[in-house]
Amino acid sequence: MNASLSAESLSDLALERIYVTQPHLAPLEEFLPYLREIWDRKILSNGGPFHEQLEQALCEYLGVEHLALMSNGTLGLVTALQAHRIAGEVITTPYSFVATAHSLLWNGVQPVFVDVEPTTLNLDPTKIEAAITPQTTAIMPVHCYGHPCDVAAIQRIADNYNLKVIYDAAHAFGVETASGSVLKHGDLSVMSFHATKVFNTFEGGAIVCPDARTKQRIDHLKNFGFVDETTVVASGINGKMSEINAAFGLAQLRHVDAALARRREIDEMYRTTLSHVPGIRCLSKGTETVANCSYFPVLVEADFPLSRDALYEYLRKHEIYARRYFYPLISDFPMYRNLPSANRANLPVASEAALKVLCLPIYPALSDMDVVRVVETIAHAGR
Ligand SMILES: *Cc1c(COP(=O)(O)O)cnc(C)c1O
Repeated sequence: MNASLSAESLSDLALERIYVTQPHLAPLEEFLPYLREIWDRKILSNGGPFHEQLEQALCEYLGVEHLALMSNGTLGLVTALQAHRIAGEVITTPYSFVATAHSLLWNGVQPVFVDVEPTTLNLDPTKIEAAITPQTTAIMPVHCYGHPCDVAAIQRIADNYNLKVIYDAAHAFGVETASGSVLKHGDLSVMSFHATKVFNTFEGGAIVCPDARTKQRIDHLKNFGFVDETTVVASGINGKMSEINAAFGLAQLRHVDAALARRREIDEMYRTTLSHVPGIRCLSKGTETVANCSYFPVLVEADFPLSRDALYEYLRKHEIYARRYFYPLISDFPMYRNLPSANRANLPVASEAALKVLCLPIYPALSDMDVVRVVETIAHAGR
């Protein structure tokens, strides 16, 4: 044994590492029969039977009419913008994963960043109108952490100015408000089924569409623009989900209710126990009636003895890998920071949140003991 190790670091050696998330996997035995079917059938992609089944099953589960599976959420965003021929400028949030704005650049569209509101950290509807110009064609909000945007206020502005609304709903799987699925708002909603998300297909995503005609256009766009063997109507991309990913999604879907229930328990546990830790503020719940607890963001306030970054480092030293979602802001990355709307003076709420937020570990396999360990480590850091 290394005699130079302190008692504290020795006890840390025994600690298991806790990451911010851990992918939820259906039991392997339940997945294997799907593989056998694929091997027998030899249909691997291009809208195979599992692809069709998963589209159907997700429509039923999510309570939506039409949905087009995609190979990932980013190509979903890119394709959703193309489906509505979005050009010019699009109003969006700086407080998100970088793919939100990247999907605009991939379409040659200029992002216009508008600040978020302090309770949900979603796009602030009261600040949208001032950012509208003759070039504005759409609004791309994000249901950040799965908390619903103010969809009614956003739709009113969109209607007044004849703008499309395309939601980045990557965090919003299964979220419902009093009026049903949050995915039914706007012109399109785009989901991600990446490994780190609440419902995953390894990689994957989907676009929720209001009608069959829009879904058909998206089905063409995700298959190079082909409408039949010899006709290509648009410069579409290859955004199709494979049969393997779709089959895995079918296996996952049977376990998603249990996974969501466990997430809600952990969310409750954090809220109760962290209420005794001064300087740590949990982000309030949104307007959802059914939450998915996809993330557990806290704000490290000025009265906490450590800065957010010092707490982040302290937790890492204790084998707890929390994440600073979302820091840096999208508007601070090099391809965006010279845009007029990227100026931090234009984005005070988002800028402050990016310096305060820390997303704590939350995933179905996280035990009660793990939650206690995370909270006690934070409390200890604050002493
Ligand atoms: C994960 C995520 C995406 C990208 O989805 P992928 O499936 O990884 O391409 C886009 N926007 C947000 C807000 C996300 O969290």
